[in-house]
Amino acid sequence: MELLKQMILEKGIVLSKDVLKVDSVINHQVDPFLMQEIGKEFAARYSEENISKILTIESSGIAPGVMAGLYLNVPVIFARKRKSLTLVDDLLTASVYSFTKNETKEISVSKQYVQPEDRILIIDDFLANGQAAQGLAEIVNKTGASIAGFGIVIEKAFQTGGKLLRSQGYRVESLAKIQSLKNGTVQFIEDNLEVYNI
Ligand code: 5GP
Repeated sequence: MELLKQMILEKGIVLSKDVLKVDSVINHQVDPFLMQEIGKEFAARYSEENISKILTIESSGIAPGVMAGLYLNVPVIFARKRKSLTLVDDLLTASVYSFTKNETKEISVSKQYVQPEDRILIIDDFLANGQAAQGLAEIVNKTGASIAGFGIVIEKAFQTGGKLLRSQGYRVESLAKIQSLKNGTVQFIEDNLEVYNI
């Protein structure tokens, strides 16, 4: 997705060879037009999949998730990372190790929002080692609902998440695939080039 790649090149800050900061458009301040285009793109890629719900994770998955939900005309659920006073009964949970925060958290979704007949699109902002994605898939799989695939805004293809999910047979659609962040530079994998973990 050209607009997204352009934004990453213009506004992204390479923090290390593993971490990209895009706080000015995705992770802290949000660019609504960019999010709208991201939502349209996910909706177009999954338009034939009879998606009934989107599942994402707070907080940075919510904006792209909601925009995709708008264009697919389906509700959007976000997994919570913190216990909430109002989120009390019948919870589906999974443990997720956070790559950027170096900690393990239990994520949870109320059972009432995912039904066995649902067809779920899982959306997140980044795909690194796939821990968040696996946790969300684990939650869906506990309900008997099916997973149509993953919609990832930025996949860091030099980390293991994409390979892991694809090896499990999941469809993974990433709007920007980064090959390397070495030397403070963002290098993309072109859309038609299926080269991972180089
Ligand atoms: P994973 O679970 O795939 O290892 O990591 C994905 C999660 O970690 C995403 O939800 C995202 O919030 C965060 N994350 C991983 N890598 C990056 C990165 O390079 N930049 C930012 N901003 N977040 C990241």
